Amino acid sequence: MSKRDYYEVLGVSRDADENTIKKAYRRLAMKYHPDRNAGDVKSEEMFKEAKEAYEVLTDANKRAAYDQFGHAGVNASAAGGGGAQGFSDAFSDIFGDIFGTRSGRSSMHRGSDLRYNLEISLEQAAHGAETKIRIPTMEQCETCHGDGAKPGTSPKTCSTCNGHGQVRMQQGFFSIQQTCPKCQGSGKIITHPCPTCHGVGRVKQQKTLTVKIPVGVDDGDRIRISGEGEAGLNGGPPGDLYVVIHLSAHPVFRREGDHLHCEIPISFTVAALGGEIEVPTLEGHAKIKVPAETQTGKVFRLRGKGIKGVRSHDKGDLLCHVIVETPVKLTARQKELLEELEAISLKDGPRHSPRAKSWMDKAREFFSE
Ligand SMILES: [Zn+2]
Ligand SMILES: [Zn+2]
Repeated sequence: MSKRDYYEVLGVSRDADENTIKKAYRRLAMKYHPDRNAGDVKSEEMFKEAKEAYEVLTDANKRAAYDQFGHAGVNASAAGGGGAQGFSDAFSDIFGDIFGTRSGRSSMHRGSDLRYNLEISLEQAAHGAETKIRIPTMEQCETCHGDGAKPGTSPKTCSTCNGHGQVRMQQGFFSIQQTCPKCQGSGKIITHPCPTCHGVGRVKQQKTLTVKIPVGVDDGDRIRISGEGEAGLNGGPPGDLYVVIHLSAHPVFRREGDHLHCEIPISFTVAALGGEIEVPTLEGHAKIKVPAETQTGKVFRLRGKGIKGVRSHDKGDLLCHVIVETPVKLTARQKELLEELEAISLKDGPRHSPRAKSWMDKAREFFSE
Protein backbone atom coordinates (compact mmCIF):
# COMPACT_ATOMS: atom_id res chain seq x y z
CA MET A 1 0.00 0.00 0.00
CA SER A 2 1.47 3.37 -0.97
CA LYS A 3 1.68 5.96 1.75
CA ARG A 4 -0.92 8.66 1.95
CA ASP A 5 0.11 12.29 1.94
CA TYR A 6 0.71 13.48 5.51
CA TYR A 7 -1.39 16.60 5.09
CA GLU A 8 -4.13 14.47 3.68
CA VAL A 9 -3.88 12.09 6.61
CA LEU A 10 -4.41 14.92 9.08
CA GLY A 11 -6.92 16.70 6.87
CA VAL A 12 -5.05 20.01 6.99
CA SER A 13 -3.89 22.37 4.27
CA ARG A 14 -0.24 22.47 3.26
CA ASP A 15 0.26 25.83 4.90
CA ALA A 16 -1.39 24.78 8.16
CA ASP A 17 0.39 26.09 11.26
CA GLU A 18 1.57 23.92 14.09
CA ASN A 19 -1.53 24.53 16.19
CA THR A 20 -3.82 23.42 13.41
CA ILE A 21 -1.76 20.29 12.88
CA LYS A 22 -1.78 19.44 16.58
CA LYS A 23 -5.50 19.97 16.76
CA ALA A 24 -6.16 17.77 13.74
CA TYR A 25 -3.91 15.08 15.13
CA ARG A 26 -5.58 15.16 18.49
CA ARG A 27 -9.00 14.81 16.93
CA LEU A 28 -7.90 11.80 14.90
CA ALA A 29 -6.08 10.22 17.80
CA MET A 30 -9.17 10.51 19.96
CA LYS A 31 -11.31 9.07 17.22
CA TYR A 32 -9.08 6.08 16.47
CA HIS A 33 -7.93 5.55 20.01
CA PRO A 34 -7.61 1.80 20.78
CA ASP A 35 -9.79 2.23 23.87
CA ARG A 36 -12.67 3.23 21.68
CA ASN A 37 -12.00 0.85 18.83
CA ALA A 38 -10.90 -2.34 20.55
CA GLY A 39 -9.61 -4.90 18.04
CA ASP A 40 -10.34 -2.75 15.01
CA VAL A 41 -7.33 -3.16 12.73
CA LYS A 42 -8.39 -0.34 10.46
CA SER A 43 -8.54 2.12 13.38
CA GLU A 44 -5.15 0.96 14.54
CA GLU A 45 -3.75 1.73 11.09
CA MET A 46 -5.35 5.17 11.03
CA PHE A 47 -4.01 5.81 14.48
CA LYS A 48 -0.43 5.00 13.51
CA GLU A 49 -0.71 6.88 10.25
CA ALA A 50 -1.90 10.02 12.02
CA LYS A 51 0.89 9.78 14.55
CA GLU A 52 3.54 9.49 11.88
CA ALA A 53 2.13 12.44 9.94
CA TYR A 54 1.99 14.45 13.14
CA GLU A 55 5.58 13.68 14.08
CA VAL A 56 6.91 14.74 10.69
CA LEU A 57 4.79 17.85 10.26
CA THR A 58 5.53 19.24 13.72
CA ASP A 59 9.27 18.88 13.25
CA ALA A 60 10.40 21.90 11.22
CA ASN A 61 13.32 20.08 9.59
CA LYS A 62 11.40 16.96 8.73
CA ARG A 63 8.50 18.98 7.45
CA ALA A 64 10.70 21.02 5.14
CA ALA A 65 12.28 17.83 3.81
CA TYR A 66 8.88 16.30 3.33
CA ASP A 67 7.50 19.38 1.58
CA GLN A 68 10.40 19.28 -0.83
CA PHE A 69 10.87 15.58 -1.44
CA GLY A 70 7.75 13.88 -0.17
CA HIS A 71 8.00 10.62 1.70
CA ALA A 72 11.45 10.02 0.26
CA GLY A 73 12.67 13.10 2.12
CA VAL A 74 11.77 11.82 5.55
CA ASN A 75 12.17 8.08 5.18
CA ALA A 76 15.92 8.34 5.56
CA SER A 77 15.64 10.04 8.92
CA ALA A 78 12.70 7.92 9.98
CA ALA A 79 14.50 4.70 9.16
CA GLY A 80 16.99 5.33 11.95
CA GLY A 81 14.69 4.05 14.61
CA GLY A 82 11.18 4.68 13.50
CA GLY A 83 10.98 2.11 10.72
CA ALA A 84 10.26 -0.83 12.89
CA GLN A 85 8.44 1.01 15.60
CA GLY A 86 5.83 -1.22 17.13
CA PHE A 87 2.32 -0.34 17.96
CA SER A 88 2.92 -0.32 21.70
CA ASP A 89 5.39 2.54 21.31
CA ALA A 90 2.94 4.58 19.35
CA PHE A 91 0.35 3.73 21.90
CA SER A 92 2.30 5.02 24.88
CA ASP A 93 3.18 8.16 22.98
CA ILE A 94 -0.43 8.83 22.35
CA PHE A 95 -1.25 8.41 25.98
CA GLY A 96 1.42 10.90 26.81
CA ASP A 97 0.26 13.36 24.23
CA ILE A 98 -3.42 13.22 24.83
CA PHE A 99 -3.77 12.68 28.49
CA GLY A 100 -0.71 14.55 29.60
CA THR A 101 0.45 11.62 31.70
CA ARG A 102 4.00 11.75 30.49
CA SER A 103 6.33 13.39 32.94
CA GLY A 104 8.89 15.91 31.87
CA ARG A 105 6.97 16.85 28.77
CA SER A 106 5.08 20.06 28.47
CA SER A 107 2.94 19.49 25.43
CA MET A 108 -0.28 20.58 27.10
CA HIS A 109 -1.64 23.80 25.77
CA ARG A 110 -4.64 25.76 26.82
CA GLY A 111 -6.92 26.64 23.89
CA SER A 112 -7.15 30.22 22.66
CA ASP A 113 -9.69 32.63 24.05
CA LEU A 114 -12.38 33.71 21.64
CA ARG A 115 -14.20 37.01 21.37
CA TYR A 116 -17.81 37.51 20.40
CA ASN A 117 -19.35 40.94 19.87
CA LEU A 118 -22.91 41.05 21.17
CA GLU A 119 -25.19 43.97 20.48
CA ILE A 120 -27.94 44.44 23.04
CA SER A 121 -30.64 47.02 23.69
CA LEU A 122 -30.59 49.50 26.54
CA GLU A 123 -33.57 47.69 28.09
CA GLN A 124 -31.67 44.38 28.08
CA ALA A 125 -28.70 46.09 29.71
CA ALA A 126 -30.90 47.71 32.35
CA HIS A 127 -32.97 44.69 33.26
CA GLY A 128 -30.63 41.83 32.42
CA ALA A 129 -31.53 39.17 29.89
CA GLU A 130 -30.74 35.76 28.56
CA THR A 131 -29.91 35.40 24.92
CA LYS A 132 -28.66 32.71 22.58
CA ILE A 133 -25.62 33.26 20.43
CA ARG A 134 -24.23 31.16 17.61
CA ILE A 135 -20.50 30.69 17.38
CA PRO A 136 -18.91 29.57 14.13
CA THR A 137 -16.32 26.80 14.36
CA MET A 138 -14.40 24.86 11.72
CA GLU A 139 -14.86 21.11 12.05
CA GLN A 140 -13.56 18.25 9.99
CA CYS A 141 -16.11 17.28 7.36
CA GLU A 142 -18.03 14.21 8.51
CA THR A 143 -18.80 13.08 4.98
CA CYS A 144 -15.25 12.75 3.67
CA HIS A 145 -13.36 12.63 7.00
CA GLY A 146 -11.34 15.59 5.88
CA ASP A 147 -9.81 14.42 2.62
CA GLY A 148 -12.22 16.43 0.47
CA ALA A 149 -13.08 13.53 -1.83
CA LYS A 150 -16.56 12.17 -2.43
CA PRO A 151 -17.12 9.00 -0.34
CA GLY A 152 -16.05 5.93 -2.32
CA THR A 153 -13.40 7.92 -4.13
CA SER A 154 -10.08 9.22 -2.93
CA PRO A 155 -7.89 12.12 -4.01
CA LYS A 156 -5.41 11.16 -6.73
CA THR A 157 -1.77 11.94 -6.38
CA CYS A 158 -0.94 14.85 -8.65
CA SER A 159 0.86 13.49 -11.71
CA THR A 160 2.71 16.73 -12.37
CA CYS A 161 4.52 16.88 -9.03
CA ASN A 162 4.06 13.27 -7.91
CA GLY A 163 2.34 14.48 -4.79
CA HIS A 164 5.13 16.80 -3.64
CA GLY A 165 3.16 19.96 -4.30
CA GLN A 166 6.35 21.50 -5.67
CA VAL A 167 7.95 21.25 -9.08
CA ARG A 168 11.49 22.00 -10.18
CA MET A 169 12.02 24.23 -13.18
CA GLN A 170 15.36 24.22 -14.92
CA GLN A 171 16.51 27.70 -15.96
CA GLY A 172 20.03 27.75 -17.27
CA PHE A 173 22.26 26.68 -14.41
CA PHE A 174 19.58 27.18 -11.84
CA SER A 175 16.87 24.92 -10.80
CA ILE A 176 13.97 26.78 -9.30
CA GLN A 177 11.39 25.22 -7.08
CA GLN A 178 7.82 26.34 -7.59
CA THR A 179 4.42 25.52 -6.25
CA CYS A 180 2.88 22.95 -8.55
CA PRO A 181 0.54 24.80 -10.94
CA LYS A 182 -1.71 21.82 -11.41
CA CYS A 183 -2.59 21.04 -7.79
CA GLN A 184 -1.72 24.45 -6.31
CA GLY A 185 0.69 22.77 -3.93
CA SER A 186 -1.66 20.27 -2.35
CA GLY A 187 0.01 17.34 -4.11
CA LYS A 188 -3.30 15.78 -4.95
CA ILE A 189 -6.12 16.17 -7.38
CA ILE A 190 -9.67 15.71 -6.24
CA THR A 191 -11.61 14.44 -9.22
CA HIS A 192 -14.87 13.93 -7.35
CA PRO A 193 -15.19 16.59 -4.65
CA CYS A 194 -17.09 15.78 -1.49
CA PRO A 195 -20.61 17.17 -1.89
CA THR A 196 -20.69 18.40 1.70
CA CYS A 197 -17.50 20.45 1.90
CA HIS A 198 -16.87 20.90 -1.86
CA GLY A 199 -13.42 19.42 -1.50
CA VAL A 200 -12.20 21.63 1.33
CA GLY A 201 -12.24 18.85 3.94
CA ARG A 202 -13.59 21.10 6.66
CA VAL A 203 -16.99 22.61 7.23
CA LYS A 204 -18.11 25.62 9.18
CA GLN A 205 -20.39 24.63 11.98
CA GLN A 206 -22.42 26.63 14.40
CA LYS A 207 -22.49 26.15 18.12
CA THR A 208 -25.36 27.67 20.08
CA LEU A 209 -24.68 29.03 23.55
CA THR A 210 -26.94 30.69 26.08
CA VAL A 211 -25.53 33.92 27.49
CA LYS A 212 -26.80 35.48 30.70
CA ILE A 213 -26.57 39.25 30.48
CA PRO A 214 -26.23 40.59 34.04
CA VAL A 215 -28.28 43.58 35.15
CA GLY A 216 -26.49 46.86 34.48
CA VAL A 217 -23.85 45.87 31.91
CA ASP A 218 -22.51 48.73 29.87
CA ASP A 219 -20.95 49.25 26.48
CA GLY A 220 -17.53 47.57 26.33
CA ASP A 221 -18.13 45.24 29.30
CA ARG A 222 -16.96 41.67 28.81
CA ILE A 223 -18.77 38.57 29.99
CA ARG A 224 -16.50 35.57 30.39
CA ILE A 225 -17.91 32.17 29.53
CA SER A 226 -15.45 29.73 30.97
CA GLY A 227 -14.32 26.85 28.76
CA GLU A 228 -16.20 27.86 25.61
CA GLY A 229 -13.15 29.09 23.71
CA GLU A 230 -11.06 26.97 21.39
CA ALA A 231 -10.38 23.38 22.37
CA GLY A 232 -7.11 22.77 24.17
CA LEU A 233 -4.20 20.76 22.80
CA ASN A 234 -2.89 17.49 24.13
CA GLY A 235 -5.27 17.40 27.04
CA GLY A 236 -4.91 21.08 27.83
CA PRO A 237 -8.01 22.95 28.99
CA PRO A 238 -10.09 24.89 26.48
CA GLY A 239 -9.86 28.68 26.30
CA ASP A 240 -12.60 31.02 27.41
CA LEU A 241 -15.16 32.86 25.37
CA TYR A 242 -15.43 36.61 25.95
CA VAL A 243 -18.72 38.17 25.02
CA VAL A 244 -18.12 41.88 24.48
CA ILE A 245 -21.18 44.04 25.02
CA HIS A 246 -22.17 46.72 22.53
CA LEU A 247 -25.14 48.88 23.42
CA SER A 248 -27.27 49.79 20.46
CA ALA A 249 -28.48 53.38 20.19
CA HIS A 250 -31.82 54.03 21.90
CA PRO A 251 -34.44 56.25 20.24
CA VAL A 252 -35.16 58.16 23.47
CA PHE A 253 -32.41 57.66 26.03
CA ARG A 254 -28.69 58.23 26.01
CA ARG A 255 -26.73 56.39 28.69
CA GLU A 256 -23.86 57.92 30.61
CA GLY A 257 -22.65 55.49 33.26
CA ASP A 258 -25.61 54.84 35.53
CA HIS A 259 -27.44 57.99 34.41
CA LEU A 260 -29.81 58.34 31.51
CA HIS A 261 -30.39 61.51 29.52
CA CYS A 262 -33.31 62.46 27.35
CA GLU A 263 -34.62 65.55 25.62
CA ILE A 264 -38.10 66.84 26.42
CA PRO A 265 -39.64 69.32 23.97
CA ILE A 266 -42.24 71.62 25.53
CA SER A 267 -44.40 74.34 23.99
CA PHE A 268 -43.46 77.92 24.79
CA THR A 269 -46.85 78.41 26.42
CA VAL A 270 -46.14 75.61 28.94
CA ALA A 271 -42.63 77.01 29.34
CA ALA A 272 -44.02 80.47 30.07
CA LEU A 273 -47.04 79.59 32.18
CA GLY A 274 -45.83 76.34 33.76
CA GLY A 275 -47.60 73.01 33.69
CA GLU A 276 -47.26 69.30 34.17
CA ILE A 277 -45.69 67.11 31.50
CA GLU A 278 -45.31 63.39 31.16
CA VAL A 279 -41.86 62.00 30.44
CA PRO A 280 -40.84 58.47 29.46
CA THR A 281 -38.72 56.31 31.76
CA LEU A 282 -37.29 52.83 31.18
CA GLU A 283 -40.04 51.42 33.42
CA GLY A 284 -42.91 53.41 31.94
CA HIS A 285 -43.45 57.11 32.54
CA ALA A 286 -43.24 59.82 35.17
CA LYS A 287 -44.62 63.32 35.62
CA ILE A 288 -42.61 66.51 35.87
CA LYS A 289 -43.94 69.80 37.18
CA VAL A 290 -42.59 72.48 34.90
CA PRO A 291 -42.51 75.81 36.76
CA ALA A 292 -43.52 79.02 35.02
CA GLU A 293 -40.74 80.86 33.15
CA THR A 294 -38.78 77.70 32.35
CA GLN A 295 -36.02 78.30 29.79
CA THR A 296 -34.73 75.94 27.16
CA GLY A 297 -31.79 73.84 28.42
CA LYS A 298 -33.23 73.46 31.90
CA VAL A 299 -32.54 69.97 33.30
CA PHE A 300 -34.99 68.08 35.48
CA ARG A 301 -33.47 65.26 37.47
CA LEU A 302 -35.59 62.22 38.29
CA ARG A 303 -33.73 60.37 41.03
CA GLY A 304 -33.48 56.59 40.73
CA LYS A 305 -34.90 56.46 37.22
CA GLY A 306 -31.58 55.58 35.65
CA ILE A 307 -29.74 52.26 35.60
CA LYS A 308 -28.23 50.22 38.40
CA GLY A 309 -24.74 49.48 37.10
CA VAL A 310 -23.01 46.13 37.60
CA ARG A 311 -20.73 47.64 40.25
CA SER A 312 -23.21 50.14 41.73
CA HIS A 313 -25.36 49.98 44.87
CA ASP A 314 -28.12 52.28 43.65
CA LYS A 315 -29.79 53.24 40.45
CA GLY A 316 -28.62 56.34 38.64
CA ASP A 317 -30.88 59.24 37.66
CA LEU A 318 -32.82 60.26 34.60
CA LEU A 319 -31.93 63.75 33.43
CA CYS A 320 -34.55 65.43 31.28
CA HIS A 321 -33.24 68.31 29.15
CA VAL A 322 -36.00 70.75 28.29
CA ILE A 323 -36.19 72.22 24.81
CA VAL A 324 -38.69 75.03 24.26
CA GLU A 325 -40.15 74.50 20.87
CA THR A 326 -41.00 77.17 18.33
CA PRO A 327 -44.52 76.56 16.97
CA VAL A 328 -44.85 75.78 13.27
CA LYS A 329 -47.68 75.65 10.69
CA LEU A 330 -49.61 78.42 12.38
CA THR A 331 -53.10 79.43 11.23
CA ALA A 332 -53.98 83.05 10.47
CA ARG A 333 -55.75 83.30 13.81
CA GLN A 334 -52.78 81.93 15.76
CA LYS A 335 -50.45 84.35 14.00
CA GLU A 336 -52.79 87.21 14.82
CA LEU A 337 -52.71 86.29 18.51
CA LEU A 338 -48.91 86.05 18.50
CA GLU A 339 -48.58 89.41 16.79
CA GLU A 340 -50.88 90.93 19.35
CA LEU A 341 -48.82 89.34 22.14
CA GLU A 342 -45.64 90.72 20.62
CA ALA A 343 -47.11 94.24 20.29
CA ILE A 344 -48.18 94.27 23.94
CA SER A 345 -44.86 92.83 25.12
CA LEU A 346 -42.80 95.43 23.20
CA LYS A 347 -44.54 98.25 25.04
CA ASP A 348 -43.14 96.85 28.31
CA GLY A 349 -39.57 97.08 27.10
CA PRO A 350 -37.15 94.12 27.38
CA ARG A 351 -38.25 92.82 30.79
CA HIS A 352 -40.04 89.78 29.37
CA SER A 353 -36.88 88.52 27.70
CA PRO A 354 -34.12 88.19 30.31
CA ARG A 355 -31.63 86.54 28.00
CA ALA A 356 -32.09 89.01 25.16
CA LYS A 357 -31.73 91.88 27.66
CA SER A 358 -28.45 90.66 29.11
CA TRP A 359 -27.15 89.87 25.62
CA MET A 360 -28.04 93.39 24.45
CA ASP A 361 -26.25 94.89 27.46
CA LYS A 362 -23.10 92.91 26.69
CA ALA A 363 -23.22 93.79 22.99
CA ARG A 364 -23.62 97.47 23.80
CA GLU A 365 -20.60 97.37 26.15
CA PHE A 366 -18.54 95.64 23.50
CA PHE A 367 -19.26 98.23 20.81
CA SER A 368 -18.75 101.25 23.09
CA GLU A 369 -15.24 100.16 24.09
ZN1 LIG B 1 -16.21 16.64 2.84
ZN1 LIG C 1 0.90 18.86 -8.28
